[in-house]
Amino acid sequence: MKLYNTLTRKIEPFVPENKDEVKIYTCGPTVYSHPHIGNYASYIYWDLLIRTLRANDYKINRILNITDVGHLSSDADEGEDKLEKGAARENKTVWEIAEYYIKDFLAGYNSLNLVKPDKITRATDYIEQDIKLVDLLTKKGYTYELEDGVYFNTDHFSRYADFAKLDLKHLQAGARVEFNAKKLHPSDFAVWKFIRPDETHAMRWDYLGRPGYPGWHLECSTIIHTELGEPIDIHTGGIDHIPVHHTNEIAQSEAAFDTKLSRFWLHCNFITIDGNKISKSLGNVYTLEDLKKRGFSPLDFKMWILQGHYQSERNFTFDDLAAAKRRRLNWRNRIALLYQDSELPNDFSSGALKGAVAASQGAVRPSFTPSEKVFENSLLEHLDDNLNSAAAFSLIDNSELTLADWQKVDELFGLNLIDDTPDIPDSLKDLIRQREQARADKDFTTADKIRQELEENNIIINDSPTGPIWEYKA
Ligand code: AMP
Ligand code: ZN
Repeated sequence: MKLYNTLTRKIEPFVPENKDEVKIYTCGPTVYSHPHIGNYASYIYWDLLIRTLRANDYKINRILNITDVGHLSSDADEGEDKLEKGAARENKTVWEIAEYYIKDFLAGYNSLNLVKPDKITRATDYIEQDIKLVDLLTKKGYTYELEDGVYFNTDHFSRYADFAKLDLKHLQAGARVEFNAKKLHPSDFAVWKFIRPDETHAMRWDYLGRPGYPGWHLECSTIIHTELGEPIDIHTGGIDHIPVHHTNEIAQSEAAFDTKLSRFWLHCNFITIDGNKISKSLGNVYTLEDLKKRGFSPLDFKMWILQGHYQSERNFTFDDLAAAKRRRLNWRNRIALLYQDSELPNDFSSGALKGAVAASQGAVRPSFTPSEKVFENSLLEHLDDNLNSAAAFSLIDNSELTLADWQKVDELFGLNLIDDTPDIPDSLKDLIRQREQARADKDFTTADKIRQELEENNIIINDSPTGPIWEYKA
């Protein structure tokens, strides 16, 4: 399989270092408010990555980390800790805030039917190891101490600018007040922050004789070292992480342990809404709950995400979400077609019938019927090509699938198509038969009444030239 590696800026063949285990690390959410749909987009893309690796028969060891300390409101080590901000806003302790939003994040994660990581870590469970890492960096001459923390001296790590292709001279010239003026270089970053006596930072640990807390980037280096060991095979995150967070992770880890941190780096692009950045001031910070209120399930959103590519900036609109929802329902109704009652006078081998159904569902007419393995292999070929789910989706639209094929589709995309499309109960099948009888008797009042009753049960009847076909209502 091939993946785009930010490290080399190329699409490269992916092979894990150890063929028995693909080691993957995902920087997770900062748990201080409800995640918005842009945040969840990244976990959907990585879900596709995990499912594709599984389909390639790789065994996976994946950590998803949760940031519950040290992520400040500015990436330049300034501003308030986001968790402390959440606690003040909601009049709760930081620990309560973390607890609440971890649960909230995981509820959304599960509603999207995303593969569970092998381990979910919490930054605050690794403070001891954080301190050891800072000690090691200090021993190796990479840090210096200022009034407000211990800083990494980026000038001592000669490859610092490479990963993000940073122009450090320009950064130096552009340095403004948001940078701690005492830092030796604007790109230097805190590996440990001290808490001033007048500061009310509730999460605190003693180090170097003072209360403090780890810098945001440190947790990822520490957890990867403790749980997976360098080098890992794939590190994932959003493109916003390239110039600061991931650059700093690489500097810390590679300076401390003298090995590459990760062999592949995958970054997903951003979701915009109606062409705008997702932001509070624009009032477009939609959550999965907001989508539900407008009649869209989390899986409709997953469908929309998977229609595009993780490296493209994607513009979200409710019209496009509605189209994705229709496409998902269309796929479900193609599964429903496989359950139609064989005792009714319709003939499933007839192309006319299938054409009629496809037309009634607005689908592209299936153009070929591949054998099971051929279909699975062709799907995987698209996904192996740097996760091209859009091409895989076209193949699904244009192929005639068996239930076994749909099972593969569910395994690869986690869209719950089969589970969400149960066969209808016998009582409803009886109603369909009664309606057919009424129509044969020209008792159209009864036929209409039954159609209405079926609709109340979320079932629509299409009368095709060869018999009735039921499908789920949108
Ligand atoms: P946070 O919980 O604030 O650390 O955010 C987690 C991650 O979500 C960010 O670092 C980004 O990688 C990702 N993210 C934030 N906004 C968007 C967006 N609009 N589209 C896609 N990903 C986003
Ligand atoms: Zn990270």
